[in-house]
Amino acid sequence: MKCARCKDLGYVTAPLGEFAVARVCECRIPCPECNGTGLIIDASTLPRKAAVCSCRHLNRRVELFNRAGLPARMHSKTLDLFEERSPAQARTKTFIRRFTEDYAPGNRGFLLWGKPGTGKTHLVCSMSRHFLLEMGWSVKFIDFFQLLSDLKSGFSDGRSEAELISPLVAPDVLIIDELGKGRATEWEISILDQLVSRRYNAGKTVIATTNYDPMKATGEDRMPGLLSRIDERIYSRLCELCEFIEIQGDDYRRLDSRF
Ligand SMILES: [Zn+2]
Ligand SMILES: [Zn+2]
Repeated sequence: MKCARCKDLGYVTAPLGEFAVARVCECRIPCPECNGTGLIIDASTLPRKAAVCSCRHLNRRVELFNRAGLPARMHSKTLDLFEERSPAQARTKTFIRRFTEDYAPGNRGFLLWGKPGTGKTHLVCSMSRHFLLEMGWSVKFIDFFQLLSDLKSGFSDGRSEAELISPLVAPDVLIIDELGKGRATEWEISILDQLVSRRYNAGKTVIATTNYDPMKATGEDRMPGLLSRIDERIYSRLCELCEFIEIQGDDYRRLDSRF
C-alpha cells in the first residue's frame, strides 16, 4: 500500500454538516499517471496517440458522491464494517453483498424492513458508496420525512410538481430511507405516487428501508403495517419495483433463550 490515507483507493470521505462528502486524495493531486493533464500520451506510436486518463473517472465519481445526499455519519460505512448480530442478519448482509456485486442500472430494487436499530441505513449506504465511488453510478439518498418537507417547501416556493420530482427521477438508484416515517398529506401522497410511477416507467431502480411491516395491513401484534402509512397505489408499485427483505434484530436473544 503506497498511500495510508486513502488505502490506494484515490479518494477519501468525511462528514460535512449533515452530509457525507468525498474528495480526491492528495496522493492523486496532481494525478501521477497523467501529471494532471487528464490525458495519457502513448509515445510508442507515430503519430502519438492520447488516451483519457482514469483520473477523470475519479473526479466524476467524487462529484456523484457529493451529490448523493448520504448522511454524514454514514460516510465511511462499508459492508465489511457491518457486524451481524444473528444468523438472520448475516443472511441479510449476504443478500446485500450479492445485490451490490450483481447490480446493473435498471435492476429491480428491494425494500429492507425491520425494527429500528437493525442497521438498515448502514447497509444501503455501504451499497451506495460502492455504486458511486467504485462503479460510477448515480445514487440519490433521501430520508422519507425530509422528502415530505422538501416537497412542501419546494411547492410553497412556487416550483412545479415536475420540477420537484425530476431530480429524483434522473439518478440510476433512488433510496428512500425510513419509508412511512411522518404522516404524508393527500397532496404529498400524489407527488410520491408520481415519483414512484415515473421511476417505474423509466425502468429505474428504487430501494427503500422501513420500520414498518410491508406484509401486513396493520400488524399490531409485532410491528405496524406499512400499508397504514402509505397509499395503496404506492404500495402496489413498490411490490413490483422491490423485493421485500426482512432484517431481524432480535434473533440472537431468541437463540440464547433456547439453550
Ligand atoms: Zn491517497
Ligand atoms: Zn490522470
